[in-house]
Amino acid sequence: MDVTALLAWYRAHRRSMPWRDEVSPYRTLVSEIMLQQTRVDTVIPYFQRFIGEFPTAEALAAAPLERVLERWSGLGYYSRARNLHAAAKAVAAEGGFPQDAEGLRGLPGVGPYTAGAIASIALGLDEALVDGNVERVICRQMAWAEDPKRIKARLWEQARAWLPKGEAGDFNQALMELGATICTPSAPSCLLCPVRAGCAGVDGPERYPAKAPKAAVPEAVAVAALLRDDGRVLLARRPATGLLAGLWELPGALGADLGAALTERVGLTLLDATPLGTVTHVFSHLRLHTTVYTAQAHGIAAAGGGYQEVRWVPAAEVDGMALSTLTRRTLALGSAPAAMPRKPRATRRPAPPS
Ligand code: SF4
Repeated sequence: MDVTALLAWYRAHRRSMPWRDEVSPYRTLVSEIMLQQTRVDTVIPYFQRFIGEFPTAEALAAAPLERVLERWSGLGYYSRARNLHAAAKAVAAEGGFPQDAEGLRGLPGVGPYTAGAIASIALGLDEALVDGNVERVICRQMAWAEDPKRIKARLWEQARAWLPKGEAGDFNQALMELGATICTPSAPSCLLCPVRAGCAGVDGPERYPAKAPKAAVPEAVAVAALLRDDGRVLLARRPATGLLAGLWELPGALGADLGAALTERVGLTLLDATPLGTVTHVFSHLRLHTTVYTAQAHGIAAAGGGYQEVRWVPAAEVDGMALSTLTRRTLALGSAPAAMPRKPRATRRPAPPS
């Protein structure tokens, strides 16, 4: 690979991004965690809002987790927000970021990829990184047809072998930028590629790397109730651990029995329910079909069945709660005010090996 040509191309064509235009370990950490499984365009406004409210690791560490989850609301994959908060606490407790990749890997939620990104981009260290884009570029350059999951060590070795001393940050970003904009998963633009010369896979790039067969995702059904009272909406807070931990949602449960769900989980007796529609949401491990009802119920709401808390929330305040994307979609189905879904996410790259 012509490393010089790649660096020259990157410096001439790199896209402007808020975490590139002003660099620090904290900004790189936040952006990289947000970019896991989320596109750059989607992340930019979230990043700016997040940094606006939590400009430093210390400010993030001092914020309640509930507020962090509210600011994360809509990005999905909330374990990322929890890890980021925990990492900020660790940094604040130590009085600053670790100054090498090994130390960075000790932070919650920071694996080899994210540590490599912070070390090279923000600390200027000669550290490599491998994410989904880099895997693809390497496999095509080398004409490696194996499943990348099976050749992790070889991919990292190759990334390190190309690393130009003193320019690792730009080089790593150049590899990722090439994968995101030129050496794309389908129909790569080889004619525009700055490292076309010497690319062993140029005659059939889409043969590399091998695509892992997709595992079938199990399906499940659930019910949820939109209960209103005097301009307020009943929300329930999920358990502190597990899927969508700690987030607020319309009360409901897995299965098809809305009456049982309301009795067991929020202590209400269902009087009447009208279906509003069904939302299908795909988690990494599950395709969930949630039927939403506008409902009337009797009783005094009280948390049970795993919920931590139930609350009648004024409709105007619903949007500011820590809600999952799924809940925003269920609320939108009932046209609950101030809770319209945000832009759908799309995968920017496969989950990094972090
Ligand atoms: S020449 Fe084509 S396959 Fe090779 S790195 Fe460039 S874009 Fe990818």
